[in-house]
Amino acid sequence: MNVREARFRSAVDETSEPLIPDRNSSLLQRTANVAAAAAGEAEEVDRDARFPKAAIDAARQQRLLGIQIPEEFGGSGASIFDVTDACYTLGRACASTAMIFAMHQTKVACLVRHGTGSSWHEALMRRVASEQLLLASSTTEGQNGGNIRSSAAAVEHGGTEISLVRNATVISYGAHADGIVTIARRANDAVASDQVLVAFTRDNYTLERSLEWETLGMRGTCSAGFELKATGSAEQIFPEAYDKIHAQTMTPVAHLCWASVWAGIAAAAVERAQLFIRKAARGAGGHMPPGAAHFTAARMALTKLRAIITSNLDTYATHEYDERALSSLDFQSSINLLKVEASELAVATVMSAMRACGLSGYRNDGDFSIGRHLRDALSAPLMINNDRILANIATASLMSGVPASLRD
Ligand SMILES: Cc1cc2nc3c(=O)[nH]c(=O)nc-3n(C[C@H](O)[C@H](O)[C@H](O)COP(=O)(O)OP(=O)(O)OC[C@H]3O[C@@H](n4cnc5c(N)ncnc54)[C@H](O)[C@@H]3O)c2cc1C
Repeated sequence: MNVREARFRSAVDETSEPLIPDRNSSLLQRTANVAAAAAGEAEEVDRDARFPKAAIDAARQQRLLGIQIPEEFGGSGASIFDVTDACYTLGRACASTAMIFAMHQTKVACLVRHGTGSSWHEALMRRVASEQLLLASSTTEGQNGGNIRSSAAAVEHGGTEISLVRNATVISYGAHADGIVTIARRANDAVASDQVLVAFTRDNYTLERSLEWETLGMRGTCSAGFELKATGSAEQIFPEAYDKIHAQTMTPVAHLCWASVWAGIAAAAVERAQLFIRKAARGAGGHMPPGAAHFTAARMALTKLRAIITSNLDTYATHEYDERALSSLDFQSSINLLKVEASELAVATVMSAMRACGLSGYRNDGDFSIGRHLRDALSAPLMINNDRILANIATASLMSGVPASLRD
């Protein structure tokens, strides 16, 4: 048993919640159980664009939703390595389930990192761990696209009470979540970039559907548009300003988790291509089919994809508690470029896998179909558009020097 597994085993052993089906099962085993449930309904979830209920029920049953919550608040204190590994494993099974898990874990990371010390947020952490609450994210607003550092709707203050009305263009699994973590302008007189992060639970808000979700891929995320109307207490506003939360936690954790999901999708496509090439070689008396070179290209792209994720994971884990390092130009450029690179590499990997399989990959039926993987992966470059990210970091890229050595 490796160190990480041992830590999880002991965390699981210490938990006495009745939801745990097998108190001795490791995080890897618990994730594998959820992945099995996700794989079992992936085709149907995609076809019907429906919420992956069996998979998320299994995640609750296996207590995966609270893994990041510190042990003192009832969770397992899982690291970013554990969370991203789970994203990858789920991504291989069902991209929508994995992306729901990744978005939820990003909100939980904000709660853990920036809510500790606030009694309201600590109580929410305990609830996420004990009740396995699913948290959704609302950042996209009106016609503003992926311009997250600018909000239109403002928090209205009335004594200790607050309210918010937000034109939320996209809230993945909004209709299925137990809570929503949203950005907003601090107050009516605040400028668009003076933002706060607020957590609302189901009893705080109503959602009125404004846009349906009929898309190419990631269909099970059910990322419809809503008018969000929320009321609550001023304590629900995170104590730190959003610009800090955005740089230190929201962006790094989102990009690491999303990239791990996309790597999982890419790995699933590579696995199908491998099975196809093996079968074709067997059928041709051991001769490699012409598509074999595309399979090698798919593996090569997957290797690059994993390398760029693990390199950024190591950097993030090293500086996780170092505000200055996380806010530095170098780290911010690197973590933003991770999103751009990982999304492009995921699409390239899946495309190569499709070309390796030829018509068998292009078909929507059969064991070697790559269609769902390709459609799901195509969401990656758009999810906070790569063009927007590249334009935003152009100035920062100009300012940082060219590395003097390979490991600089
Ligand atoms: C599967 C999925 C799930 C999602 N879930 C959520 C969710 O739960 N909550 C949420 O709030 N949002 C969610 N989103 C939305 C996401 O966060 C982004 O807001 C959205 O993808 C941006 O959409 P857009 O490309 O239309 O908008 P924009 O970012 O405005 O881009 C529109 C067009 O303008 C171009 N463009 C924009 N800026 C620049 C620039 N500076 N330079 C050059 N070109 C530029 C882009 O290339 C693109 O062609 C989700 C998106 C997806 C795909």
